[in-house]
Order: sequence, then C-alpha cells, then structure tokens
Amino acid sequence: CSMTPDVARRPLIVGNWKMHGSHTANAELLAGIVGARPYLADVAVCVPFPYLSETAVALAATDIRWGAQDCSAHEQGAYTGEVSAGMLHEFGCRYAIVGHSERRQYHHESDQLVADKAKAALARGVTPIVCVGETLAQREAGETESVVKRQLSHVIHTLAHCAGEMVVAYEPVWAIGTGRTATPEQAQAVHALLRAQLAAATPRAADMKILYGGSVKPDNAAQLFAQPDIDGGLVGGAALKSADFVAICRAAH
Ligand code: PEP
Repeated sequence: CSMTPDVARRPLIVGNWKMHGSHTANAELLAGIVGARPYLADVAVCVPFPYLSETAVALAATDIRWGAQDCSAHEQGAYTGEVSAGMLHEFGCRYAIVGHSERRQYHHESDQLVADKAKAALARGVTPIVCVGETLAQREAGETESVVKRQLSHVIHTLAHCAGEMVVAYEPVWAIGTGRTATPEQAQAVHALLRAQLAAATPRAADMKILYGGSVKPDNAAQLFAQPDIDGGLVGGAALKSADFVAICRAAH
C-alpha cells in the first residue's frame, strides 16, 4: 500500500450522487461546490461512472476530489458491466465507495466480496470508502455491534497490513434516505466500537477517518461532526443540491 498521505483526521465530506445526474445538472452542482471554496474539510463527490470524465475536467484545477460508487474486485477480464479500479485510477479517482448498503441489498454483495473490492481499489491507488451498517431489525434485536464488527472484520483481514489506508463509513441502513438520522450519541457509540476494532488491527487506527452516513442534512451535520470519533460524512440526498452540500461541508472543520 502506497497511498497519497492524507492529513490525519481532517474531516472528509463525500457526496454520493447515487444514480442521479445529467450533463446540465452535474455542471450546475459542481460549479456550486467549486464556487463556495475554500473549505476547512476535505470535500469529494462520488459520481456515476459515465460522469467521471466530465467531473475530472470540472474539478481538475481545484482541491475538490472525486471518486466512484463501486468498483470490481477483478483487475480485468470477462466481467461484463463491471469497472476496474485501474480504470478508475486512469480517471483520477481518489475514492471508490464499496459495500454501500444498496449494493449489499440489491446486488447481494457479501462481506467478502466487499473486502475483495476494497483490496482491488487499494492495489490501484484508489482509497476505498468501506460502508458498514445494521438494518432496523438488527438494531432492534440488539445486533448492531456484532453486525458492523463482522462486516469490518472481513475487510481488516483481507487488507491486512494495508487496513490503515481505507476510509470507513458507518451507515445505519435505517437512516439512509429515510430522513431518520442516528442521534450523535448513537453514531458516536458505533464509531468508537469501529475505531477500537481498527486499533486492534492497525497502528494507524487513531489517524483513520470514520465517516457517518444516513440522512445527514445542513441542520444536523454540525452536531454529528462534533463527536470525537466522527470524522465527516457520506451524504446522499443532500449532496444533490449545492446549497445543502456546501452547508454540510462548512459544518465540518
Ligand atoms: C448514502 O447514500 O450513503 C446516504 C447516506 O444517503 P442519504 O444521505 O440520502 O441518507
């Protein structure tokens, strides 16, 4: 692992556009984000694959970073429809989200596949943003800790001595796109667990970024980001309106 060193624990705000966008909408959104610089936090957008090229052009002369929302676990070959980490690297991607709950749910991605994707990303110099999180049923059954630990342990074991290079995102499934946010205390409790798990695996745990995701909005962002183990956010719906996304980026410092 030989990633570009990042400023330890400087907050990171990542917009996850999901399957939204068009040439016109992207240009407007990116112009809004660029025009509101500077930010105290690191800021990135993870865009649909076809828009990587125009995003790279729009952000080339800025310190705003960009990435993808997935990548293949394979380097190349007969995998129709997949996109490799090497290809993402050619487009200047800094990040690839892996293991988003929508992919775990709709595409049946296993913990090990997610871990293999994270490894493939790191091997090509793309930082994986590894998502973990419990469903509402799991939370209500008292399984939050065991679920997120199981999800993260596959990644830790697969990345081995490179585990310190990933970004982790805690995204409770019941909070994604629902308008129902984890309280800062609920989120902090899980982030502390995850950091302790990382600390048992890598000396870099104290410097690693653990983002919170799940209905982050301008009016709840500051309280979430003020928690000691929350190092920024992975933002879905609110990342599609530049005024909201900019306000969330400003809430991180
Ligand atoms: C996400 O897609 O990662 C997410 C957190 O979505 P939202 O902010 O819309 O809940």
